[in-house]
Amino acid sequence: MAEPARQLPFDLVGKRVFVAGHRGLVGSALVRRLERENCVLLTIGHRELDLRRQEPVERWMKMVRPEVVFLAAATVGGILDNSMRPVDFLYDNLMIETNVIAAAYTLGVAKVLFLGSSCIYPRLAPQPMTESVLLTGPLEPTNEPYSIAKIAGIKLCQAYRRQHGARFISAMPTNLYGPNDNFDLASSHVLPALIRKTHEAKLAGLSSMVVWGTGKPRREFLHVDDLADALVFLMCNYEGEEHVNVGTGRDVSIAELTSIIQRAVGFDGAIEYDTSKPDGTPRKLLDVTRLTALGWKATIPLDAGIGQTYSWFVEHQATARRS
Ligand code: GDP
Repeated sequence: MAEPARQLPFDLVGKRVFVAGHRGLVGSALVRRLERENCVLLTIGHRELDLRRQEPVERWMKMVRPEVVFLAAATVGGILDNSMRPVDFLYDNLMIETNVIAAAYTLGVAKVLFLGSSCIYPRLAPQPMTESVLLTGPLEPTNEPYSIAKIAGIKLCQAYRRQHGARFISAMPTNLYGPNDNFDLASSHVLPALIRKTHEAKLAGLSSMVVWGTGKPRREFLHVDDLADALVFLMCNYEGEEHVNVGTGRDVSIAELTSIIQRAVGFDGAIEYDTSKPDGTPRKLLDVTRLTALGWKATIPLDAGIGQTYSWFVEHQATARRS
């Protein structure tokens, strides 16, 4: 069908903006960033509204009438958590995205931004990974259920766009970190896990700390405040069917990351590699040419971002997610 007129920039001023998942790492950064946009923020906690249930989602969205949706709600976790809870990572994410995207269409929401993750790409995709390597090879088995749910979300946004002309777009961020991250050692991603482990090793006066795997995998890390800025930028300035990668375009090995964190924390103990834990995909680096061409670049350097996140962790230890 013919595409409707899609004026850019899309203006957020005065609009009713629903941030789904506002207490999470991404959602809370979006709420901070959107406070500068003079829009009306709509949020609801997961205890009040279970986004996995279609009817309550429709009812609540009908009541609050959002005009814009940032879909940042998801069941997320690190490499071990993904392998322990495949149902939660597949079912929860399929349900959340289907319910919110479908309700957004039914209620005539003007624009939706769906968030995925760089693990949607094939395990051995050429690096850095362009948006076009999607579905060109097998996925990394340690996060396949999550990846399949996120790929379905991208395809659902594209389907609404193709069939109904909906202005639904998708962004694929790289590995994220920052305030409000999950610091629970069993379920977190590597960066918050290593911040906590290093801090605790320092406090305990230990001479070494354990890092999972071989230390050789390479990962790219983006501060979540940079991500939130990119998401607002894309909401206002992007209208394509293709998803857009969001990253820094630079990666480090897990061993290098450990050194940066050790410097930030002030701990210089030895590192013991626990190779009984999985390495996961060997390298995950996004090609950010599309986003750069649109006019957006990350600004927070990794060492400064880690320093800031470490300070946040120290200040919020009692309330940070670290069960
Ligand atoms: P991934 O990017 O999906 O593989 O997820 P993670 O962020 O959980 O893990 C990234 C890499 O860091 C993997 O190679 C892990 O084995 C490694 N790693 C090293 N130490 C840790 C740790 O304490 N926690 C986690 N989650 N990963 C670790």
